Amino acid sequence: MSDWDETFDVIVVGAGFAGLTAAVEARTAGASVVVIEKMKAPGGNSVISDGGVAAAGTALQESSGIQDSPELFYRDMLKAGMGLNHPALVRVLTEKSAEAFQWSADYLGVQYLKRVDRFGGHSLPRCYAAEGITGATIIKALVTKAAELGVSVRTATSLSTLVTDERRVCGVVVEEGYDARKKTGTNTKRVKAERAVVVATGGFGADVPFRSTQAPRLSQEVDTTNHKFATAEALVTLLRIGSTPVHLSHIQLGPWASPDEKGFGSGPLFADYIGFLYGILVHPLTATRFVNEQSDRKLLSEAVMEIGSPCVCISDQAAVTRSGWNIDRALRKNVVQTFGTLEELACRYNLPAQPLLRTVERFNAAVSRGGDDEFGRPILTDSPPIQHPPYFAMRIWPKVHYTMGGVRIDERAQVIALDHRPIQGLYAAGEVTGGVHGACRLGSCAITDCLVFGRIAGKNAALAGHLDG
Ligand SMILES: Cc1cc2nc3c(=O)[nH]c(=O)nc-3n(C[C@H](O)[C@H](O)[C@H](O)COP(=O)(O)OP(=O)(O)OC[C@H]3O[C@@H](n4cnc5c(N)ncnc54)[C@H](O)[C@@H]3O)c2cc1C
Repeated sequence: MSDWDETFDVIVVGAGFAGLTAAVEARTAGASVVVIEKMKAPGGNSVISDGGVAAAGTALQESSGIQDSPELFYRDMLKAGMGLNHPALVRVLTEKSAEAFQWSADYLGVQYLKRVDRFGGHSLPRCYAAEGITGATIIKALVTKAAELGVSVRTATSLSTLVTDERRVCGVVVEEGYDARKKTGTNTKRVKAERAVVVATGGFGADVPFRSTQAPRLSQEVDTTNHKFATAEALVTLLRIGSTPVHLSHIQLGPWASPDEKGFGSGPLFADYIGFLYGILVHPLTATRFVNEQSDRKLLSEAVMEIGSPCVCISDQAAVTRSGWNIDRALRKNVVQTFGTLEELACRYNLPAQPLLRTVERFNAAVSRGGDDEFGRPILTDSPPIQHPPYFAMRIWPKVHYTMGGVRIDERAQVIALDHRPIQGLYAAGEVTGGVHGACRLGSCAITDCLVFGRIAGKNAALAGHLDG
């Protein structure tokens, strides 16, 4: 008699971008697929994300006159990652980025805004925003496609153990009726995977004990943009069966966050998409600039943390208009505030007024020269000087945003054991994996990572089992 309660070809754990993408691809390749998700609804961090995707060599870039290439994207990622990235994985991500982006538009039906943006560390514009500037747009499309294809998504069902025989991962033990707050379920089930298990359980940004073990300064005192249950238990399950950990102490802080709201909030849209592109970031005591505002997230966050108290990001009406973004939410919440003059702005944030005026003047001179001698920041060709009231400002203090570390995978998304060999029947994708981004992930590259490696994991999982024995 079988000791399994159910059997599927492929079991996917986690219903975020990576897991749902893998499920759709595995099902499209002909496998029977179940997705198990510990929360009461799919989405994880994916559904609360901004839905920004990076891709090089797209039709949208071409029609905007932007000459990009996977090679340039690859070099940008390695530079930000300080060479810690596993190059073969970066190659796969950058070379398949345009195809994955197009797949999400054509096959899933995701609508993107008709614009291409540039974020810190990318050497040119290659970031696309899903409609509504939210990952919910992509999650909705994935859930709809999964349902159309007959993928079963079981919510409130948590992975407890990966079951292995002497050769391979052959199934999972799950808790049904799972309550993430109580960390308990109502009944246990054993589900067999005829071909493979794909683990796509996301990062551990909200798991204070786990993250502060890896990086002690990231204690309870440091807020996170992640959803409350972005925790490490599934990663620990992977480590228990001998998966190789990579870069667990490399944890990204979001440098565009505000200490005046909880979580991700509404401020990052202003700071990242407007302030750091067209405006300036100033020191709270001296009102001087101290960094290239278009640096990657690691550089910017470290620069702010070193100062030790919130800095101020400043921009003006011309920049807000030029950007085309709507920041009403941040204004309603008072996270971003407006001022008729720079002197009023200085008074509100306790900045010395005369030095602030001099800083703005110096920056405006750099804008009219088209070059920033002080910090080497690229000045966008359409950059207006900061001189059109009202002025906009936001306090900046970094929050835990993304965990670069996770389990090691190869280019086929197979999980690699401590003996450097693939663990048969086990694939992983998305933020639960490590090595793709090295010391620092560039903006919009996490979703690309989930789409590219989710697709690879799903396709290969569907073919695994009988074939890889
Ligand atoms: C606020 C915010 C904004 C962001 N914006 C962007 C952006 O614009 N562009 C970009 O590239 N990146 C962005 N990121 C990062 C990106 O969204 C994430 O890295 C990505 O969504 C992770 O996807 P994932 O599928 O790996 O994990 P998730 O989306 O977190 O999904 C993992 C799922 O696994 C489930 N799970 C976990 N453990 C278990 C278990 N034991 N059993 C069963 N299920 C389990 C979780 O509940 C979750 O639903 C943002 C992140 C945040 C927090």
